[in-house]
Amino acid sequence: MAKTPIKCAECDGTVIVIGRNRREADRMAIRRRDEGAVCAACYEARRRDALAAATAKSAEQGLPALNGSPKQAAWAERIRRTVFDLIDMVMPAIDQIGDRQTIENADGNDLTARREAIAAVFAAIPEAQRWQARTAALELLREVGSSARAHGVVAALRRREDASWWIDRREHGLAALAGELQAEVLAAEAPPDDDLVQLQAEAREEALLRPSAAPANPVPVEISYIVGHIRIATPGRHDVLRQLLRDQGYQWYQGDQAWLRPVASTVSSDRLAEIAHRILAIGFMVALYDPAARQMAIAGNFAPERRRWVRRVTTGYRAGWFSLSWSRGDDLYSAARRLRGAIYRRPNVLVPARSFDQIEDFAARYDFALSDGARLTIEHFRSLQAAGVVIEDPKVPEPVVAVRGREDLKAGQFGVDDDLLDHD
Ligand SMILES: [Zn+2]
Repeated sequence: MAKTPIKCAECDGTVIVIGRNRREADRMAIRRRDEGAVCAACYEARRRDALAAATAKSAEQGLPALNGSPKQAAWAERIRRTVFDLIDMVMPAIDQIGDRQTIENADGNDLTARREAIAAVFAAIPEAQRWQARTAALELLREVGSSARAHGVVAALRRREDASWWIDRREHGLAALAGELQAEVLAAEAPPDDDLVQLQAEAREEALLRPSAAPANPVPVEISYIVGHIRIATPGRHDVLRQLLRDQGYQWYQGDQAWLRPVASTVSSDRLAEIAHRILAIGFMVALYDPAARQMAIAGNFAPERRRWVRRVTTGYRAGWFSLSWSRGDDLYSAARRLRGAIYRRPNVLVPARSFDQIEDFAARYDFALSDGARLTIEHFRSLQAAGVVIEDPKVPEPVVAVRGREDLKAGQFGVDDDLLDHD
């Protein structure tokens, strides 16, 4: 044990540096001195000053004094100050960006000009804090959707007067705090002050479908149809919702920050209504602006999509075979593989035509739809059977083509894979 005294960086006091031996103590003393080490009294004074500065700044900004024991209140004040310093830094940027759409467009379409405009907003922030500010601003906007609502979150944060509230959330980022205050912000939103805002609110209200129980999230899931796709924007990450969308054939597009699925325009209303209906059923609010689809979703009179199909393979070595497909999440693999001669060709199970008798039972039992081609195959072989013909697999002398397909095949939706199967 060795002690090396150094001078306090702020007063004439002494800081004692302790090492395991003389060499270590001296080496550490040099480092501590270079770091500007201060004595215990100065350290305590610094803490007091920092607290006083935080308290003064909060008072100046009209923030309420915090409830709790003096020690709790002091700690909470420092936590709250950190949050509000960040708010002071990011709100001007958020006001300039405006809404979530701007970020999404900038990311999704790679619009350089947009990106540069956003970068310029952050260029005004000192470099040491720029990355943190940028991340916080974008996360907050993604969470709440608009600068107006971000201001609502700030107002809600200003009302938090309990020291324990701040201490419990000391690890939370701005977006997490906003997520927690979302319901309060929505409830406190000012009544519309002009006709346009009024109309927007009414349209939004009209578009809103509510689940029978309390909604799983105060922000609705937005469903829209855009050029051959259904687009779904979700409020944050929810595992149940994610699973549903994946099962329904939607894919997450990072650039668009939305779930997308190609859908033919002829069935778009049915598909919009169906997905809205299913999302409501798991407890989320849904915003659906398409009036026809909304009506169908409410009445439940859309034509549900057939996800289970028996189709006929039309080309390749296994032309004439049946192809069985179903949606992710339905566990039908073992049942399908038990059919006579069934083989698995990712992602479908293929069954030879001679098993036509089993296919009909299977389709009825598990609610599979038969394509016209599959139906004709069954009828054809049934008539041959009636005539006493011994049925073999149809052999087509063509080069082997890998038979591929999709879980959900709809006319015009896919390219090559489609050609190998018959459709309705
Ligand atoms: Zn000192």
